[in-house]
Amino acid sequence: MFSADYATARARFRASALRHDVAIEALPITARGPNHEDLNIDIAWLGARNARRIILHITGVHGVEAYAGSATQLALLAVPPALPADGALVLVHVLNPYGMAWLRRTNENNVDLNRNFLPDSASWTGAPPLYRKLDRLLNPASPPVRDGFGLRLAVRSLRHGIHAMHQAIAHGQHRYPEGLFYGGAELQQGPRQFCAWLQQRLAKAESVFVIDMHTGLGRHGASTLIVEPGTGTATTAELEAALAQPVTGGTAAPAAYTVRGSLGAALPRLLPGLSLKFILQEIGTWSSLHVLHALRNENRWHHHGVGHLDHPAKRQLREALCPASTEWRNAAVAHGSDLVYRAADYLFGRSRA
Ligand SMILES: [Zn+2]
Repeated sequence: MFSADYATARARFRASALRHDVAIEALPITARGPNHEDLNIDIAWLGARNARRIILHITGVHGVEAYAGSATQLALLAVPPALPADGALVLVHVLNPYGMAWLRRTNENNVDLNRNFLPDSASWTGAPPLYRKLDRLLNPASPPVRDGFGLRLAVRSLRHGIHAMHQAIAHGQHRYPEGLFYGGAELQQGPRQFCAWLQQRLAKAESVFVIDMHTGLGRHGASTLIVEPGTGTATTAELEAALAQPVTGGTAAPAAYTVRGSLGAALPRLLPGLSLKFILQEIGTWSSLHVLHALRNENRWHHHGVGHLDHPAKRQLREALCPASTEWRNAAVAHGSDLVYRAADYLFGRSRA
């Protein structure tokens, strides 16, 4: 089910939707892929057009993380949950197609889209004070070389504390446009179109269950469900009861770090007045240090090297966020599909087809 590249993933997704008689829309972005191919956010709509109850499954907010999400959506197109007359399953295939095509976490402007969903009136400047101190370590202006990053990061962790470091790095920043976790200077074209699409197409909905699928955080091959503050109308306890699974991010089990400008935090603003549940699903890959190191190398290669795909930094990042092992890949799709079936059981009643 895992595709070798964005173009293959897109063709499979569209062909499968066509085969199953599922309506599909495309939101194009102006950037191009490595073979000059079109880049689109494709959206498949299974079930009632004016559904009152909707499961919205989103993949690829972080580009290269989309390989697992894309494979999961192919599995869901083949075996969707049973949908009631007023229900729908909506699959958003790759919110950041540039990142998937170019093996980047960020989009065509180096923007981390899960730090970009801020209102126009928000402040689009600045960086956490500790990030400013770490900028030269995180974002050297040179191609990737071995430079003792792990050790240097460990030394800084001793000084600043590992939690404070993690929080400062991953929070999001608007000061260094070529840096990691850059949130952008404005809402990006993909998110802008997607927000407009949501407001138009989900206007008639009453209850929406959103699942945003990522990879790279947590135990290898395990699924971690995270609820962020302010992302919906349900409490952590309600989500745990609905899904019959543990959920992190409440006061009892806080998430590893908080971010500014996430997709989840934008949803209540975009879709006011409806019952909204939001879960961020992470499929664990390797350690956070390993993932950060891979992100750093790829970012250096993109900005200060040639940037083409046939380079160890690109292969390293793909492996960091989409491990090649069959066991990991099977587990990712099993966890991804299982969460959608659980959400369907909750939202539609027992529904497994
Ligand atoms: Zn992610």
